Amino acid sequence: MIIDQNTTLYGVVGCPIHHSMSPTMHNAAFSTRGLNSVYLAFETEDIDGCLKGMKALGLKGMSVTLPHKSAVIPLLDEVDGLAKQIGAVNTIVNDERRLIGYNTDAVGALEALEDKIELSGKTCLIIGAGGAARAIGFILKERGVHLTISNRSTKRGEELAGFLECSFVPLKEMEVVQADLLIQTTPVGMYPHDAQCIISPNALKEGMVVMDVIYNPLETRLLRMAEDQGCLVINGLDMLIHQGAEQFRLWTGIKAPVDNMTQAVKEALKRNCNEI
Ligand code: NAP
Repeated sequence: MIIDQNTTLYGVVGCPIHHSMSPTMHNAAFSTRGLNSVYLAFETEDIDGCLKGMKALGLKGMSVTLPHKSAVIPLLDEVDGLAKQIGAVNTIVNDERRLIGYNTDAVGALEALEDKIELSGKTCLIIGAGGAARAIGFILKERGVHLTISNRSTKRGEELAGFLECSFVPLKEMEVVQADLLIQTTPVGMYPHDAQCIISPNALKEGMVVMDVIYNPLETRLLRMAEDQGCLVINGLDMLIHQGAEQFRLWTGIKAPVDNMTQAVKEALKRNCNEI
């Protein structure tokens, strides 16, 4: 690929950002589709300055990650309805200097789940009450899923349960919940702390669907435990790719090459693990 005066710039903004797989995923997509575009990672706490720079320099699109997903909302010219309801933006489109915010995390998780199961009428236990839990809980509720939230901090857990109009249980009581589906949304179990897991083996039942939003490692300790118990497992890579594919479509209007994006991220994860 040749970078020249016509190259379009995209990026991800967050802090920290060194672990992000988004540059690998989106550059693979641009290259596969033959687009003269490049996607970089920007580590900054200055989200206001970042948006001003995005407008001034004409960046076409930006992914937004921790800790900026909520803070960015009042700084945008327009916020899509779903992102407004969830209260988090993870994608910005620069439409001729109007910055428009979207949330693709919710749709990414939904598509990863719907690839494997029919959701309507199911019961789901969500572990965690942060941004990922909020986006996933909101979209699942819209799909007719009956939710329970479990979280380390009772205050945050009860707040999210109130927002989703569902019940809350403390982490140590998670195994009393009868659920068809369990979704792990905390960072616990992520590389290099991949020996950790906050899910009690007693919360896992044969035939249950278990999704972990973590994608490094691809098979977390939780997913290994769930497979051993006869559960159907879904890893965080599926959600990452689906939310990234929706970002790519919003930015370019073109269908994303999901197989190439998946392959590129899998190879990068393998390389990174080998290096350390
Ligand atoms: P967040 O808003 O900071 O929320 C973190 C949640 O994890 C909170 O509920 C927190 O509980 C809980 N938690 C953190 N450390 C814990 C520990 N040691 N023990 C028990 N609970 C703990 O973060 P987020 O935006 O929801 O992101 C969470 C994870 O999802 C990250 O690993 C992120 O990379 C991943 N993610 C993946 C995708 C994907 O596409 N696969 C997309 C979005 C996010 P308290 O309330 O008690 O602090």
